[in-house]
Amino acid sequence: MKKAILMVTFILTTLFIVACGADKENAQPTNADRSKEEKKDDQQQEKQNEADKEEANQEDKSEDRQENPEKEKPKYQVSEDAMIVPINEGTNEKVVLLTIDDVPDKHALEMAKTLKNLNANAIFFVNGHFLETQEQKDMLKEIHEMGFVIGNHTYSHPKLPDLSEQEQTEEIVRVSDQIEEIIGERPKFFRAPHGMNSDHSKQVAKEQGMVVMNWTYGYDYFAPYQEANKLTEAMVSGEGPEVDVTYSLLKPGANLLMHDREWTNKALADIVKGLRDKGYEIVDPKLIQTLEGE
Ligand SMILES: [Zn+2]
Repeated sequence: MKKAILMVTFILTTLFIVACGADKENAQPTNADRSKEEKKDDQQQEKQNEADKEEANQEDKSEDRQENPEKEKPKYQVSEDAMIVPINEGTNEKVVLLTIDDVPDKHALEMAKTLKNLNANAIFFVNGHFLETQEQKDMLKEIHEMGFVIGNHTYSHPKLPDLSEQEQTEEIVRVSDQIEEIIGERPKFFRAPHGMNSDHSKQVAKEQGMVVMNWTYGYDYFAPYQEANKLTEAMVSGEGPEVDVTYSLLKPGANLLMHDREWTNKALADIVKGLRDKGYEIVDPKLIQTLEGE
């Protein structure tokens, strides 16, 4: 290093002498030579900086890997009113979340296959009373293995505020235990039947490591929309005039409620295509922040 500095000093001094001794015409190329030399030094410095940066980046990455072996960093969070909102600026906000409740009854597996073919992910909220037979357990396992996120929707679909605290706890914890036994991990999302929570049920869900999530709209449980075409139209427009929703509930971050039902199963592909035609991305629920990272 010392040698290099001496060398540069020597060159610069020589150049300076030459420049001073030269007439104006000769001074031009000399200055050019000098700046070439400086550029070289700058380039070397830059290279070093880049190498340092890369090293720092690699350290960052390996830290991430240790914390989260296979998971991508969360990009969205669930707001108080169940909207899916970006955590950082620059993330696409024109997204909708698909959720399928009361699973796995008669159509969940077929619905999962439909979504998989369309490369659309979703959360399947399960009820424990649908997880009693081996066939039902296998169905849930298959849905999970297809890449879908499994949520807790209580054991018997009660109105939680009508139950004692002890019963509420049992309704919730029992299902997380069942899910863990079948797919090897506990659910990270909780949705109360009928969207009816109590302070106690919210507390239990949180203690169980779950994000509590209602929805922003859904129509398949209203009689006028229990037919595939009618349902598709309502889900894609966001409007349900026959149940007094005369304005559109479809907006960025909408959290869409659907069920394991015959007409929803039939409408599902068209709903996904229709939402995409309107410029909405079907958000991957695996990108939604859970309680783990907090
Ligand atoms: Zn339900």
